[in-house]
Amino acid sequence: MPLHLSPSIGIAVFPDDGDNPSTLIKNADAAMYLAKEKGCNNYQFYTPVLNARTLDRLKLEYDLRLALEQGQFELHYQPQIIAGSKKLYGAEALVRWRHPERGLVPPNHFIPLAEEIGLIIPLGAWVIAEAARQVNVWHKAGLADLVVSVNISALQFHQSGFLAEVQELLARAGTEPSSLELELTESMLMSDMELSIQVLQAFRDQGYRIAIDDFGTGFSCLNYLRRLPANILKIDQSFVRDMQSDSASLAIVTSIIRLAESLGMDTIAEGVETADEYALLADQGCRLMQGYHFSKPLPPAQFEAWVQQWIGSWHKVSSLPLTVILRQGFVRFFAK
Ligand code: C2E
Ligand code: MG
Ligand code: MG
Repeated sequence: MPLHLSPSIGIAVFPDDGDNPSTLIKNADAAMYLAKEKGCNNYQFYTPVLNARTLDRLKLEYDLRLALEQGQFELHYQPQIIAGSKKLYGAEALVRWRHPERGLVPPNHFIPLAEEIGLIIPLGAWVIAEAARQVNVWHKAGLADLVVSVNISALQFHQSGFLAEVQELLARAGTEPSSLELELTESMLMSDMELSIQVLQAFRDQGYRIAIDDFGTGFSCLNYLRRLPANILKIDQSFVRDMQSDSASLAIVTSIIRLAESLGMDTIAEGVETADEYALLADQGCRLMQGYHFSKPLPPAQFEAWVQQWIGSWHKVSSLPLTVILRQGFVRFFAK
C-alpha cells in the first residue's frame, strides 16, 4: 500500500544557530513549526528573527490545531441558579483545553489566538455540538427544562449560514433549540447592529434563547437595545465585584436590572462570590445568578454531583441515587 508523507523540515546549522545539541534541536524545532505554518512539504532554515515570542505563538498555534484533531478540548458547566428558590435555571458551558503537558488551560489563554487564526469556527462548532449532546443526555436523565448556554465569538456569529449550521448541529444531537442559549457580547453585535438584530431575530424565531454577555462593559446604544431580540442581560462581574464598595457600580447594577425588567428581559448576575453579594443582588430584584458562591465551572460528572447535593441539601433526599433524584427533583426544580 503506498504511504503518502508530507514532511515539514526545520534546519539549524552548527555553529551559527547553536554550539550544542539541545540549542540546535530547539532552533531546528522552531524552524519546523514555521515550516508547518507555511504548509506541508516545506523546509525552513532557523533565523534569529524567530524570537521567543514568535516561537511560543507558532507552537501554541500548532498545538491548538492538533488539539482539535485529537479531541483535547472539554466543556465545563457552571450552574445558573434562580435567586431565593434553590431552583436551577441552567448552566453555562465553558471550554477548557486539556493540554498533554500543560494540564488544564483556561479559555483566555487560547480563544484570542483561535479567533485570530480562524480556528474558532470549527472549535465553536464543536462546543455547540458537545453542549447540545450533553444537554440532551441530561434531559433524558430527567432535567427536562435545563438550558445550556454557549459563548459565541464574533467570527462565528458573522459567518453566513450560521443559523443553518447551528440547526444542523442540534438536529444531529436531537436537541431542541429552546434548550440552547447563545451568549453574545454587546461589542460584537454593535459592529453591524441592523444585521445583528436580523440574525438574532431569525434565531429567536426558531426558538433559541439569546443572552447579552458582559453587559455594561460595551457601549450599548439604548435605541438598539430596545429592538434587540434578547431574553437575558448578563451583568458583568466587574460591577458585581465592586458594587459593595463603589456606589456607581451598585447604581449600574440596579439600572441594568430595571432596564431589563422594562424591556421584558431577565438578568443574570455573573461572578457572584459571596453571600452578601447574593443577598444584595436578590434584594435589587436580580432573578438569576452564577458564580463561585454557588459553584465553579465543573466537568459533567461533578456538575451532576453538585446538582444532587444542591437538591439534596434543600430536600434532604441525598440518600437517593442521582438518577432518581434527577427524575423526581428536576421536574419540580427546573420549573420556573
Ligand atoms: P464569560 O463568558 O464572561 O464567562 C465567565 C467567566 O467568569 C468564566 O471564566 C468563569 O469561570 C468565570 N467566573 C464564573 N464565576 C466566577 C466568580 O464567581 N468569580 C470569578 N472571578 N470568575 C468567575 P472562563 O471559564 O475562564 O472563561 C473566560 C471567557 O472565555 C468567557 O467569559 C468567554 O468569554 C470565553 N469563553 C469560554 N468558553 C468559550 C467558548 O466555548 N467559546 C468562546 N467563543 N468563548 C469562550
Ligand atoms: Mg459567557
Ligand atoms: Mg461574561
